[in-house]
Amino acid sequence: MKNILNNLAQLQEIDTQLATIEAQKGNLPQQVKVLEQAGVEVEERLEAATVKLGSDEKELKSLASNSEEYKAKLAKYQDQLYLVTTNREYDALTNEIDTIKTKIQEIRDQHTSISDEVVLLKAEITTLTEKQSELTGTLTKSRKELTSKTDLTNTLQRELEGRREEIAGRLSKRYLRKYERILEVRSLAVVPVKRRACGGCHKQISDQLLYEIKQGNQFIECEGCGRILVYSKNDDESNSL
Ligand SMILES: [Zn+2]
Repeated sequence: MKNILNNLAQLQEIDTQLATIEAQKGNLPQQVKVLEQAGVEVEERLEAATVKLGSDEKELKSLASNSEEYKAKLAKYQDQLYLVTTNREYDALTNEIDTIKTKIQEIRDQHTSISDEVVLLKAEITTLTEKQSELTGTLTKSRKELTSKTDLTNTLQRELEGRREEIAGRLSKRYLRKYERILEVRSLAVVPVKRRACGGCHKQISDQLLYEIKQGNQFIECEGCGRILVYSKNDDESNSL
């Protein structure tokens, strides 16, 4: 029985290590994925900002040329003002001149507001470009790390799986099945007694039971959680009767 308990405890140790490896594995690929997603977002924003900048600059050019046209027209009408002979012609012409002045002012306002936007867009493009190169650097590093880490953990994993198979082979099917059934539900199947309590659910253990666990001649399951209880030498003092 002592051997069985010993093998079960070793099996648990290996399974815990394998679970840790699996958990660590899950983390880095996730980080790489997050970085890739961030890269895609930055690229999309960069593209949108660049397109907007292009259209704004085109709009500024067209506003400038419109403004030139109106200014030429204004100069022409202002010259004509000296040539009119009737009040009616004079009024019509000043009306026209006022309309053009309003139009020129509107264009000027539009030009100012788009120019402001262009300044902001250029700043945004600079920031995004910096962010993009930073992300590319981090991503390259993370991918490299992932590859080397994966190689390393795969080796370790294979090694542990080999040892697991060996230990599991020493156990009878009956105990192995029992162990695996508890593991499925509890994630830990074999727990040491800690401070006179179950290392899994902390249920207090009677002196009699503690004595039996210490003897190691029986297969004892915790009354609280059903885990297999083993005696831990490390915890000898706190468990002493
Ligand atoms: Zn328990």
